[in-house]
Amino acid sequence: MAKIQMKTPLVELDGDEMTRVIWKQIKEKLLAPYVDLKTEYYDLGLEMREKTKDQVTVDAANAIAAYGVGVKCATITPNAQRVEEYHLSHMWKSPNGTLRAILDGTVFRTPIVVNNIHPVVRTWKAPITIARHAYGDIYKATEYRVPEEGRAELVFTDRRGRETFRETVYDFECPGVLQGSYNKDSSIYSFAHACFRYALNLKQDLWFSAKDTISKQYDHRFKDIFEELYKETYHPQFEAAGIQYKYMLIDSAVAALMKCPGNILWACKNYDGDVMSDMVSSAFGSLAMMTSVLVSPDGKYEYEAAHGTVQDQYYQYLRGEKTSTNPIATIFAWTGALRRRGELDGLNDLCAFADKLERACLQTVEDGVMTGDLAPLCDPPAEAVDTDTFMHAIRARLDVLMR
Ligand code: NAP
Ligand code: MG
Repeated sequence: MAKIQMKTPLVELDGDEMTRVIWKQIKEKLLAPYVDLKTEYYDLGLEMREKTKDQVTVDAANAIAAYGVGVKCATITPNAQRVEEYHLSHMWKSPNGTLRAILDGTVFRTPIVVNNIHPVVRTWKAPITIARHAYGDIYKATEYRVPEEGRAELVFTDRRGRETFRETVYDFECPGVLQGSYNKDSSIYSFAHACFRYALNLKQDLWFSAKDTISKQYDHRFKDIFEELYKETYHPQFEAAGIQYKYMLIDSAVAALMKCPGNILWACKNYDGDVMSDMVSSAFGSLAMMTSVLVSPDGKYEYEAAHGTVQDQYYQYLRGEKTSTNPIATIFAWTGALRRRGELDGLNDLCAFADKLERACLQTVEDGVMTGDLAPLCDPPAEAVDTDTFMHAIRARLDVLMR
């Protein structure tokens, strides 16, 4: 059978540890037999980041900006222990942070749903996608450990040096803590545009939540920007698609989420998105069943699994022991990227291949063949298989679907 041809290369970002091991297997066993893979390869493994002083990460981000679609393997974010383990000259920044900073995107996370693993929340029947505004707020805040009595003030000085705002935050009568956080209109507009477009893409209702009743300037600004874009730009498109936009207070959103059937895109501020996406993924089953895509304001896409490098199992693998690593979210990163590439380049067979590979993964689990993270959650209970057996089981089903 002739292999499926690609036009434009995918930007491929390799990574670390166990996910690097399965990355290679996915390419060899599931992709290369069917697709004449064209990729522009960047090795984001920690050794190469060290060797290139992290330039490779910047180059990879620029390549995604140029080609439009990338796929990324999980990577180690170094901490003190990793600096020692890999003899690093520097505690290199999180590659995902670098990619987000360069592509200025919004991260969308969606659980992969199978019919024999039921979400902890009984009402959830369909996926819930979380859009996280990946810029600013407490992640870029300035903090101070207040050591003694004194006054904390919020001051704004304009470009001509004129002080245009000064207000007391608190007159400390004892030690305490202080924080100054910010966000930018431009970033909030990008985030809102990305959410409205993604909701139209998914044909799902969009919720945006914040706490504007308490945060009357900061959170209110987010609410106003979403409302302005909805009224002035997206309302007709939403009506035509039969979907709705709703603003909710964050606490009402959490309460409503527990009683909704799913099938919604929930846009969250940075911290809310960080916390809620872990809650949603764990309630749907396993971190290894969560996909993640970074979408830039100008429509560049970077696909990855939401989980990390599965370090414990990598050490088992190095000791020659059997592992039971779930490759599904990593496979879905590839299928997401191949489908997107197919759509952009008008390659229907590439899109169809991505659909079939995803179906092969779901069928495998629904047939009761699954890795150790899923087996205890399955109804009826299943036995876990090892990584290789699981990969073969997907391949067998893919072969049938491709015939
Ligand atoms: P992790 O690799 O996601 O693993 C956490 C736990 O989740 C694992 O110990 C494992 O549980 C389970 N798990 C995750 N993915 C799995 C899979 N595919 N199959 C089976 N089980 C899976 O997170 P971590 O241990 O916190 O971090 C490890 C490294 O990954 C760190 O160096 C961190 O910097 C990096 N990281 C990278 C990214 C990224 O590149 N996007 C994201 C997060 C973390 P059991 O122990 O029960 O088997
Ligand atoms: Mg988190």
